[in-house]
Amino acid sequence: MTKYALEIEHLNKTYRNGVRALKDISLNVKDGDLFAFLGPNGAGKSTVIGIITTLVNISSGTVKVYGKDVTKDPEFTKKMIGVVPQEYNLNQFIPIKETMINIGGYFGLTKMQSTYKTQELFEDLGIWHKRDSTPRELSGGMKRRLMIARALIHNPKLLILDEPTAGVDTELRLTMWDFFKKLNNDGVTIILTTHYLEEAERLCKNLAIVHQGELVQNSSMSEVMSSRRKHTYIIRTDSNISNSNVFSGNMKIIDNESCEIVVDNKISITEIINAFNKNNINVLEILSKRNKLEELFIELTQS
Ligand code: ADP
Repeated sequence: MTKYALEIEHLNKTYRNGVRALKDISLNVKDGDLFAFLGPNGAGKSTVIGIITTLVNISSGTVKVYGKDVTKDPEFTKKMIGVVPQEYNLNQFIPIKETMINIGGYFGLTKMQSTYKTQELFEDLGIWHKRDSTPRELSGGMKRRLMIARALIHNPKLLILDEPTAGVDTELRLTMWDFFKKLNNDGVTIILTTHYLEEAERLCKNLAIVHQGELVQNSSMSEVMSSRRKHTYIIRTDSNISNSNVFSGNMKIIDNESCEIVVDNKISITEIINAFNKNNINVLEILSKRNKLEELFIELTQS
């Protein structure tokens, strides 16, 4: 029998001001999954996360974390979940190792257990050398890593990452991706919200997209990849192509030497280059305009 980290059934949320933030959302996240939870601003993602973490009340429907109803057993939920929020929210004046030990205490860990776990997490995340610093003395990227460490102090089985790499430089982002993958391989289920669809495409096994409070996509990433039949490329050439028609109908001129083409997925880059060559045009550069997940996302959320 499949074990689920999260089961959401017919979830509705109407805020007191009358905003219907969630409309009959049902979805499951399997134990061990790395799950992308996507949607444009205002779609309802934070509301769902707020409900899972028992900060927001449900209007109707049920949410279970590892089989237990979050409203009936909030203490169990808190133990099972670690959350990395978007906003930095740690005490600025306490050394970060001490903060970790305090939080460990809140989850019932002894000082020794917390110290051990803090060292492990700080070393994995590359901030152990900063253990005696206060958050004020940390860079933005280090604070982000501290937030991740904090969310993991009590060994949660489900980690919710809300835009974990927003504003982070490329090098750190890649390090964080490796960390998340390792964590997931070690058995932690991860739910990730992100605006970097490339991040979701690279990391996640399954996904959901919400739009205006409704679930508009819920599938595996591989289904999304194989269902995209068209792909958009940007081509830069060495010739004036403003009057040429190599890909008739599917070609949009950008400037004299560049264009955008929409082609079937099965057409290879070599075939595209050859088609231009046959018209005595050399291709200097060919770029994928969007990744496939981005194309689907735009299609589903542009109304
Ligand atoms: P997302 O996280 O996808 O950006 P949210 O869950 O924050 O979306 O918001 C969903 C909708 O609910 C939006 O229309 C938003 O304005 C509204 N909303 C969110 N929080 C509240 C609140 N506390 N009170 C009233 N409306 C809210």
